[in-house]
Amino acid sequence: MTIDQLIATNFTVITLAFYFSFILIEAFSIRFLKARGELNARDNLTCIFMGLMSSVANGAAAFISVGAMYWAMQFQIVSLPVTITTVVLCFIANDLRFYVHHRLAHRVRWPWAMHVVHHSSQHYNYSVALRQAWTKHFSGMLLLYVPLVIIGFDPAVILFVALVNSSYQFLLHTETIGKLPRWFEFIFNTPSHHRVHHANNPQYLDANYGGTLIIWDRMFGTFAEEDLEDRPVYGLVKNLETFNPIKIAFHEYWGILQDQLQKGLTIKDRVLYLLAPPGWSHDGSRLTSEDIKREYYEARAEASSSSALAPAGD
Ligand SMILES: [Zn+2]
Ligand SMILES: [Zn+2]
Repeated sequence: MTIDQLIATNFTVITLAFYFSFILIEAFSIRFLKARGELNARDNLTCIFMGLMSSVANGAAAFISVGAMYWAMQFQIVSLPVTITTVVLCFIANDLRFYVHHRLAHRVRWPWAMHVVHHSSQHYNYSVALRQAWTKHFSGMLLLYVPLVIIGFDPAVILFVALVNSSYQFLLHTETIGKLPRWFEFIFNTPSHHRVHHANNPQYLDANYGGTLIIWDRMFGTFAEEDLEDRPVYGLVKNLETFNPIKIAFHEYWGILQDQLQKGLTIKDRVLYLLAPPGWSHDGSRLTSEDIKREYYEARAEASSSSALAPAGD
């Protein structure tokens, strides 16, 4: 075994041990210490299976995105040295890259067909963090790493900070941790912020796309605070109701194919079935998240105006 293989093997073992120890500690806390949270063995196992398969599938296809990053090195404006400062700067730049990636993955149907996998559990615990897509390198979204290379960051540093970022995000997937100190909740993404991101309550849709930092959502107007009186309900606006991994992994691609096979579509319709927000349809027969939010706020405004008009009783 070469030293590279040894490092890779140890790294995989350490990563798996990290993930599974948190899953077990959380399960123990919920089961025996009455910590907040919910377990569902079938869902947990489905998430873990999706995660293991995503490592295999995305690992096998990683050469596509990693290859693009190394190819882009010839276009670097500068070649930044690897120092603590450049690693920190790379971490922040990559976190902004993640925000853009994540927002597009919710608002454009093609990358949503990949990312929907992560949101398809109706539960919220550490195992859900592992519920990942198998098609990440085919979504085109990982090309967003290329500008970081062109700016001057070393691809190895970018991959390292991206790994730290995704490990941090693993820790967000729990109901066991309530709200953290205010200053921390202001700057960093937290379990509370990410619970909102996984919720299908209308007022929580399309919010909190941040990776490690939540400041991007605050800056770009996509932040939503978790209301303890209105707890998140987890899952999709239309849940899959299946534990079949193939359906979970590919159902939205199947939906795109079905839409493309409809008769009488214009070229614009076909493009929009790929690139418009999820829920868009050429005949307006479906709801996008914006429609759902608008209906929710209209219904609320109507309810409050009719209660204001109602005669006061004893
Ligand atoms: Zn998401
Ligand atoms: Zn998540």
